[in-house]
This record gives sequence, C-alpha cells and structure tokens, in this order.
Amino acid sequence: MDFDDTPEEADFRKKAHEWLSKNAEVLPPDATAPIPLGEGEDEADIADCKRWQATKADAGWTCLTWPKEYGGQGLTSMHNAIFKSEEAKFQVPADVYTIGLGMLGPTLMAHGTDEQKAKYIPQMIRGQEIWCQLFSEPSAGSDLAGLRTTAVREGDEWVINGQKIWSTGAHFCDWGMVVARSDPNASKHAGLTYFIVDMNAPGVEVRPIRQINGASGFNEVFFTDARVHDDNRLGAEGDGWRVALTTLMNERVAIGAGSSSGRLASLFALARETQLRGSPAIEDGAVRQRLADFYVKSKGLVNTGYRTLSAISRGATPGPEGSIGKAIGAPMGQKMAAFAMELQGPMGAAVEGDIVPQEAFWQDTYLGMPGMRIAGGTDEILKNIIAERVLKLPPEIRVDKDKPFRDVPTGPPGK
Ligand SMILES: Cc1cc2nc3c(=O)[nH]c(=O)nc-3n(C[C@H](O)[C@H](O)[C@H](O)COP(=O)(O)OP(=O)(O)OC[C@H]3O[C@@H](n4cnc5c(N)ncnc54)[C@H](O)[C@@H]3O)c2cc1C
Repeated sequence: MDFDDTPEEADFRKKAHEWLSKNAEVLPPDATAPIPLGEGEDEADIADCKRWQATKADAGWTCLTWPKEYGGQGLTSMHNAIFKSEEAKFQVPADVYTIGLGMLGPTLMAHGTDEQKAKYIPQMIRGQEIWCQLFSEPSAGSDLAGLRTTAVREGDEWVINGQKIWSTGAHFCDWGMVVARSDPNASKHAGLTYFIVDMNAPGVEVRPIRQINGASGFNEVFFTDARVHDDNRLGAEGDGWRVALTTLMNERVAIGAGSSSGRLASLFALARETQLRGSPAIEDGAVRQRLADFYVKSKGLVNTGYRTLSAISRGATPGPEGSIGKAIGAPMGQKMAAFAMELQGPMGAAVEGDIVPQEAFWQDTYLGMPGMRIAGGTDEILKNIIAERVLKLPPEIRVDKDKPFRDVPTGPPGK
C-alpha cells in the first residue's frame, strides 16, 4: 500500500480541512481525545450532535462512502478515513451515529423496501433521528441466535414481548432495530425476524444502566405487547438472521477499538511531562521498554487497519480479519490506561475532567476499555472467529444448531 495521499486525495484533504476550519472549533494544543462514554446523557449534548451532523450533511461531508442514490457521496473508504482524520483535529460533538450510519444504514440499504429506504434514510443521514441496536438479551449475547424476545403476528401487526439489554443510546434514540423470535418451532437461526421499532411507542420501556465510570451509555429495554406494523419488518419473515448478519458484519468495522494513535501520542506526552526520580519518566529504561511495546503494537494495528482499508477500497467486503483490530486494540488500550495511571501516581485517582482533564481521560479510558473488550464480540469470540475463519482451525461443536428452538434445553441437564 502507498501511504502517501494521491494528488486527488491531497486535494480532498485540503478541502476537508478548509471546510472544517470554517465550521468547527480547533482543538486546543494540549487536548486529549474527547471522552465518548456517557455521551448523550444530556439533552443539550444530543442537540449539539444533531446540529453538527446536519451541518455536515448539508455540506456533503457525511455518509461519504454511501451510494449517491441513497444520499451519500459515492466516495471511497480512503476519502472517509481522510475526512475522519481531519475531523479528529477539531473539537466536534461526540459521535452518536456509529450504530445508525455505520451499521443500520447499510442494513436498510441492503434489505429495506423502497418505501422503508425513502422514509428512514434521509433523516438518518441528517442525524435528526437517532437509531439503536436492540439485539442482545440477558441470555443471548455471544450466542445471539439464542434470543427469546417473541414476535407474534396479528393481522397486519406484530406483537413484541421480551427484554433486550446493553442497548447503547436507547434512552435518546428515536428508532431501534429489533431481532425477535417469530417461530419457536424452527431451528434457532431460522425462526428469527428483524423489525424497525418506534422507541416512543406504547409498550416500549427504556431503563438506563449505571456503568462503572458513573455514566449511563446503555440501557435495558422492555417490550410489553408492543405493536409493530408489518410495514416495519425488514427482510422476509424468518429471514432475520441473514439481515442481522449484515448489521453484525458492519459492526466491528464501525466500532473498531477507538484510535490507538491518539492514545499513544497522549501517553508519550505524559511520559515526557512526568518526573521520575528527578528526570522525565521517558528517560527511564523500564518506562521506555513499555512505551516501545505500545508503539510497536500500535503501528502494527495502524498498518493492519490500512490493509483492511485498501482491501475495501478495491471493492472487497470487510472479512473476519477485521476482528484483529478490536481483539488487540481494546486490551492494549486498557493496558495503556493502566500504565498512564501508574505514571500519574496518586493523581491517577482523580476524575474531575474540568480540573484535571488528563487524569480524567486516562481513568475513563481504563474504566471504559473492559466494555470495548465485550461490545460487538468479546475477546474470546473474536479469537474463535480468527481461529475458525482465518486460521481454519476446527470449529466449536454446536449441538443446538439444527434443533427446533423450543426443544433447546435451557435449564440443568434433563430439564
Ligand atoms: C459497551 C457495550 C455496548 C453494547 N452495546 C450494545 C448495543 O447497542 N446493542 C446490543 O444489542 N448489544 C450491545 N452490547 C452487548 C454485547 O454485544 C454483548 O455484551 C456481547 O455480545 C457479549 O454477550 P454477553 O454480555 O451476553 O456475554 P456472554 O455471551 O454471556 O459471555 C460471557 C463470557 O463467556 C465467554 N464466552 C461466551 N461464549 C463463548 C465461546 N463460545 N467460547 C469462549 N468463550 C465464550 C465470553 O467471552 C464472556 O467472557 C454492548 C455491550 C457493551 C459492553
């Protein structure tokens, strides 16, 4: 891969930078990356997110890779990466559109009817309606196809009952994508159907969950006889797993593990500023060894990311090797944060972002990274994917795969 911008890409970067300079605030020189967890707890934050998304959409700086027929710009993943890298130099509101634009938009484009696309996609692009993903349940996460929320057809409507959990942003979202069991007599993957659900409809109750860092980024969502019109079924009845796979294929690419380069630069800056036995910590042999280890792994991740990007820009779909970024990046982010807090000494315990932003940033990263190691596929599941689909090792035994779902045991042996 050629790491330099082509003349066309350099021109695009210049235009993106000029537009951002006119429309966004420049980051102060000592700023760390914005803290994403807890985003959207405040209505004013959401209003800012909507304003920024609409500004970008009106000027043609969003959904860059989407086809023009759907309101995108028909550009490449490389253009998208360039815009994101320029945008990261500015102080912009947190991104609450990763799920909608990164995962659900592509699912709507692939499986939606013309009416569904016309109704939902334009509002999604301008960010005036925000979407959440209601897949996981208390007993179905890694084994998502084991989900138990039911959808029963009554005339032109479906009646939904059950519970979802870990639903990011559901407390400020307008629409949710729900996978539910419509046929318990079919095998677990075959009996599912995918729906678009109005989060403000009767029978839909959202309860925020308080996280270890004090924020409430995700929720429990309860469905009690919630009614969804058949017009809001996405894909055929019983074909929900295939539709969900489109969402899941886009998920790991969309969420990644955050930028390790930004964290690496902040960690080096901290090691330069921190005094250890009368000298800058960065001069200490043991500190340098840790920094070198993070540096090498981060560069490996960046280059692996470029490899995926260049495959995508050649027209390939994101493959299982996309799991590597999160499998390595999230545990490394947690280790980097732990090391930063060690360097900070007792100050590493401080959380007041307005007084000690560096300390608050590292502590929040430390507390947030375990979530990143779970969301969108746990470390173990990602390793299974790499083992089975990249290294072609023997697959796990799946005894319940072809049984009717209602015959899959849920209790102790014999129950
Ligand atoms: C920050 C965050 C945001 C999230 N946002 C959303 C969201 O918006 N929408 C949504 O639907 N869900 C969301 N989730 C849920 C997430 O997808 C699930 O938590 C995840 O898939 C794991 O499922 P689980 O929690 O049920 O754990 P389980 O699947 O019960 O796993 C428990 C443990 O067992 C291990 N394990 C399970 N199966 C295997 C196996 N076959 N081999 C080896 N080990 C295994 C796991 O690695 C884990 O350590 C979010 C989670 C987090 C942390």
